[in-house]
Amino acid sequence: MSEPKLKFFDERKTPIDMLVLHCSALSGAEMFEVFNAQKVSAHYIIDENGQVLSGVDEAKCAWHAGKSFWRGREGLNSCSVGIEISSPSLGQEPYSEKQISALIPLCQKIIAKYKIPAFNIVGHSDIAPLRKVDPGCAFPWERLAQEGIGWWPKGKEATSSAAADVKELLSSIGYDTRDDEVLKASAYAFCRRFLPQYVKKVDDVSYLIEHVLPDNFDFMREDIFLTALFSANVFF
Ligand SMILES: [Zn+2]
Repeated sequence: MSEPKLKFFDERKTPIDMLVLHCSALSGAEMFEVFNAQKVSAHYIIDENGQVLSGVDEAKCAWHAGKSFWRGREGLNSCSVGIEISSPSLGQEPYSEKQISALIPLCQKIIAKYKIPAFNIVGHSDIAPLRKVDPGCAFPWERLAQEGIGWWPKGKEATSSAAADVKELLSSIGYDTRDDEVLKASAYAFCRRFLPQYVKKVDDVSYLIEHVLPDNFDFMREDIFLTALFSANVFF
């Protein structure tokens, strides 16, 4: 693999126990240019042809997660490896087979090396739900789970319960639910990952970047609510 080429990172002081998956609407070559200009980075970049390129050495903390929260922890650059994938639609259209075929063994290698638990394999939008939509509603989480990368609900049972349980569910998975605004954004991030049928595609990617949460999203709608609880039943 090529030498790491991204310039911005910190020394690592915390052991790695998370894997964060991203996408960017840039080509691989553009990512190197833009990331260095914007003072961000990632450990790996999977370009539009499915080629894996090195951004930052895993031994350093790449600047990919930004302000972030998962399972009670914040500032997740310190404990994670970050992978960026080129996706012109920002993950709303299916990734290419070449890209996913490159991503799977890369993730498997990182997970085995650092013994990363399934619950700590996340998308950027899971850990920064107010700011980020990547890796998007077309990201193949179910397929990855079949390859041992992250979890996916297996059951089919739905149960109804009190409204408070949605907050409890999201929080128990790891999402930030510390105030109503982030709770709503976390519910949408949950849908983006597990129930993408509730996520509306947006043609204009620059608009999507500015409008992470649609104005009319109501996570208390009964159909979403029940399905969320169905998921909870099989997670825990
Ligand atoms: Zn990202």
